[in-house]
Amino acid sequence: MPKALPDWLTPQQFWQAVDEMRAVVGKDWVISEDGPALRSYRDAFSPEEDDTFLPSAVVAPDGVEQIQKILKIANDYRVPLWTISSGKNFAYGGPAPRKAGHVVLDLKRMNRILEVNEEFGYALVEPGVTYFQLYEYIQKKGYKLWIDPAAPGWGSVLGNTLEHGVGYTPYGDHFMMHCGMEVVLADGTVLRTGQGSLPDTQCWQLFQYGFGPVLDGIFSQSNFGVVTKMGMWLMPEPPGYMPFMITYEREEDLHAITEAVRPLKVSMTIPNAAFTVGLLWEASIKTTRAQYGDPKKPLPDSALKKIMSDHKLGMWNFYAALYGPKPMMDNTLKVVRDALGSIPGAKFYFDEDRKGDPSWDYRVKLMRGIPNMTEFNMTNWVGGSGAHVDFSPISPTRGEDAMRQYQMIKTRANEYGFDYLGEFAVGWRDMHHVFSLTFDRADADERRRARELFNVLIDEAAKAGYGEYRTHLAFMDKIAGTYNWNDGALWKLHHRLKDALDPNGILAPGKMGIWPRHMREEEA
Ligand SMILES: Cc1cc2nc3c(=O)[nH]c(=O)nc-3n(C[C@H](O)[C@H](O)[C@H](O)COP(=O)(O)OP(=O)(O)OC[C@H]3O[C@@H](n4cnc5c(N)ncnc54)[C@H](O)[C@@H]3O)c2cc1C
Repeated sequence: MPKALPDWLTPQQFWQAVDEMRAVVGKDWVISEDGPALRSYRDAFSPEEDDTFLPSAVVAPDGVEQIQKILKIANDYRVPLWTISSGKNFAYGGPAPRKAGHVVLDLKRMNRILEVNEEFGYALVEPGVTYFQLYEYIQKKGYKLWIDPAAPGWGSVLGNTLEHGVGYTPYGDHFMMHCGMEVVLADGTVLRTGQGSLPDTQCWQLFQYGFGPVLDGIFSQSNFGVVTKMGMWLMPEPPGYMPFMITYEREEDLHAITEAVRPLKVSMTIPNAAFTVGLLWEASIKTTRAQYGDPKKPLPDSALKKIMSDHKLGMWNFYAALYGPKPMMDNTLKVVRDALGSIPGAKFYFDEDRKGDPSWDYRVKLMRGIPNMTEFNMTNWVGGSGAHVDFSPISPTRGEDAMRQYQMIKTRANEYGFDYLGEFAVGWRDMHHVFSLTFDRADADERRRARELFNVLIDEAAKAGYGEYRTHLAFMDKIAGTYNWNDGALWKLHHRLKDALDPNGILAPGKMGIWPRHMREEEA
């Protein structure tokens, strides 16, 4: 039996509830013995011990009716359920619950692609549908549509979107591109958002709003419901595609790159989710730290220079793409060249220049919506049992802020014995700065230093006015605590909503620092 159980239940009550859930889904769809099957739901990238976030059981329903029955049992016994879609949320917690002993509600069996509409460009999917699956389906049907995957293609379209995940095509802000949800509330009520609330709607996946307040947002990064369907807009295949990369030689070029890219993004001259990628992020896709220095220490500047010349990389490597008819792309490229090419030392690369280079190849695929898994190579960077947690503050697309965040994170990372593996995902007006804190999980001291560093970064970023867009289980409470304007008014509202919608606190306790009343009282 797993070690931890919810501490307000006796083992007898808890296992009785699990038995009742087994009767709903069938014995093959419950895991309750401690063993490899249950442990596959641990967070394999955690900076903590495995057991810190190990569930006590897993239940996998096959549809809304079974979910409703499970929620009824969970309410009867007050069993906490942690919902996952494909559970690949690595770097932020994987499939694991916020608290050891909670039960994972795994929606992987609900993996039906309910509709793909080529005329309007959208898909309606269940939670278990992965990027690979949707891509293959569209290829098989011959639809002229692109998807927008996160870097790991095994993730769930719906799960990633609920986490406010990002991709690489012009549809890279996934939550912005969703249209319509179906949600089961903790009391079993099923509702549809937007136009979906009109029984004979013709527009559920066409118009994001309905009539009255827009509630979709409260079901993202939250624990207010179980989302069972979601519409996603899909990009029509364009007549042309021109990916490019620009390398820059000096650290301080980040300032000029960011200043040059802002007007190109705000005006949508560069239409896709562009990325300014740091040297070692790029390098980690195709080499390891041990090949350039001490495997246990951050690399010195001399090693960075060698990596740059060995792999034709810059200190910063800017990736973007143009889409459309060729004459249009050629014209836009001139504007891009004028802006981003005017920085001294800038070198442009196109497909013919870098084909066969793994870090180029996987980004070229991502920027045109082809899912793959290449980015996982980066876990080999440190050797041993490589893992990472991502520190992801939002930055204005402004040179001064980019440099400030970069210098703060790099200095602290080196101080704690880690390399700076970072990139800026350039959105419309902001950048998601992702620092991939890569460590050897087998090394307890590295895990400790990783946790300490992460905590320091949260404090320093908040002090400078930067908040994270998403985080690992271990840091949710701390980051929630930084969003505390006006005496924490927003989290107080989250808690009022939680108490109203889920009075027994059965859905994902602790997600994003939102706790049910009885667990808040325990802490107090
Ligand atoms: C090397 C590497 C590269 C990565 N690159 C990217 C990237 O490019 N872009 C990006 O966005 N992320 C990236 N990630 C992070 C992560 O792997 C992906 O975001 C992944 O898609 C999330 O996992 P998932 O899709 O399986 O979602 P899940 O793990 O299924 O869900 C994520 C969370 O959403 C909530 N949730 C899920 N389903 C439901 C539901 N039905 N109802 C209510 N709540 C629910 C839960 O809190 C759950 O923990 C990367 C990670 C690694 C390790």
